[in-house]
Formats: sequence, C-alpha cells, structure tokens
Amino acid sequence: MHSKRKPVIAGNWKMFNTTGEAVELVQALIPLTAHLPEREIVICPPFTALSTVKPLLAGSNIKLGAQNVHWEEKGAYTGEISPAMLKDAGCEYIIIGHSERRQYFAETDENVNRKLKATLAVKLIPIICVGESLSEREAGITSTVISRQIKIGLADLSPEQATSIIIAYEPIWAIGTGRTATAGDANAICAFIRLTITGMLGTSIADSMRIQYGGSVKPDNIDELISSSDIDGALVGGASLKATDFARIAAFTATTAK
Ligand code: PEP
Repeated sequence: MHSKRKPVIAGNWKMFNTTGEAVELVQALIPLTAHLPEREIVICPPFTALSTVKPLLAGSNIKLGAQNVHWEEKGAYTGEISPAMLKDAGCEYIIIGHSERRQYFAETDENVNRKLKATLAVKLIPIICVGESLSEREAGITSTVISRQIKIGLADLSPEQATSIIIAYEPIWAIGTGRTATAGDANAICAFIRLTITGMLGTSIADSMRIQYGGSVKPDNIDELISSSDIDGALVGGASLKATDFARIAAFTATTAK
C-alpha cells in the first residue's frame, strides 16, 4: 500500500443473500466499520438488493457497487442491466470481468473494454478483474495473460478517462479455494500490472491507480497482503458475507510498506 493511494476494500457478495439477508448483513456491518473513514469500503450485493440496501448506507462509511453491467445504454437485451440503471439504483462502483463471468458467461477482454467505457461514461467507478488460471500459472504464462487482459480490457482510454479505474488482481486458483497467493507473489504481479499501465497511460496515472488483490482474503492474511508496496486494497468474496470478518479486513493494519 502506498500512502498516496487510498486503500479500497470491496466485498463481492456473488449470488448470495435475499433482500432480507442483505439488510441484516448491512445493519451488522455499519457499526463495525463506522471508525474507518480513511478507508474506501464497498459492498456489491446482487442486483435485487441494491435499491433496498442503498438508503441504509446513508451516513455510513460503506458505498454501493454492482457485480456486472451491460455495455449498451438501453434496448432489447433481455436480462441485462445498463450502467445508468445501476447509477439510478445508487451504485458508485461496478465490478467488471470477474473470473466467474469470464469462465461461466463467456466474458471476453473485448466485452470488458465495452463495459468499462460504458461505466466511465456515466461516471461510475469500474473495478476491472484480471488474473491467471492454475494451468496458465503452471505453464509460466501469467504475465502474458495479465498483460493481454489489461491491454485489451483498458484499450483506447485517455489518461483522463482512466483516473478512477481500480484493478483487481485475482488469480483464479486462489478464488474461493482457501489458497492465497503469497504477499510477495501477489505484489509482484500487482507491480507488473502497474508497469503495464505505465506503458499504456503514463506514470502519473499508473502511480495513482489502486490495485487490489483478491483470492481467499481473510482476517488473518489481509495485514500482510496490504503491507506490500503495490497492493492497495482487496476484493473479498466469501469473507465479505460475514460482517465481523469483512469489518476486520477493512480494519487492516498495514506495517511499513515494503
Ligand atoms: C472474489 O470473488 O472476487 C473472491 C476473491 O472470492 P474469495 O474471496 O471467496 O476467494
């Protein structure tokens, strides 16, 4: 974590929680995070709970995000939701290109790029997920994969457009598996991502861009991860469903940046 970049902890609830369960979780989370104004804390419930949860967050330290979006403004796209609709529901953030969407719903880097541009057009903050599979890691092509995801996913953006973007480095083999990348390995890839962004958009954008780590982040590993120089936050899946765990992650203690 770099002192110039505000740490951002986001919870991806995935396809969990009815509206009633979402209300309960948010009501538990608000007092547990009230003492953390210097952190950006985001929850991303399912679409169905967004409008119900939004008014509960007023005056709290918690912001609202969505887990996916379509790139068109409106039209005959059955089942899809536009960036403007998410803004209307009270979202400020949108997760784009999560590995589960890439794996199960044929999300491509080109579609990530379309969604990113549509999200920026309505001034919401995109959280762009990238990460390699276990077989890609074992084949030694992690950096090739990440570089492709970043170069196509963030293609054709001006530095001005890119200022708000958050990247989440999520090695697929660490998501929901209990296996976490070591802080050193995760930091090395986050530094590589920053270098790739430098080449595309310049040093100033790359230095200010927040890069999260995601993949089995828990209360007992967040402190070490966030103490790494290029990790500026976490995208949390499973542990974001339990108020005490997510609040503890948001309340991380960073040791001196390495
Ligand atoms: C995720 O879904 O983005 C994620 C990182 O999940 P988990 O924390 O459960 O590994």
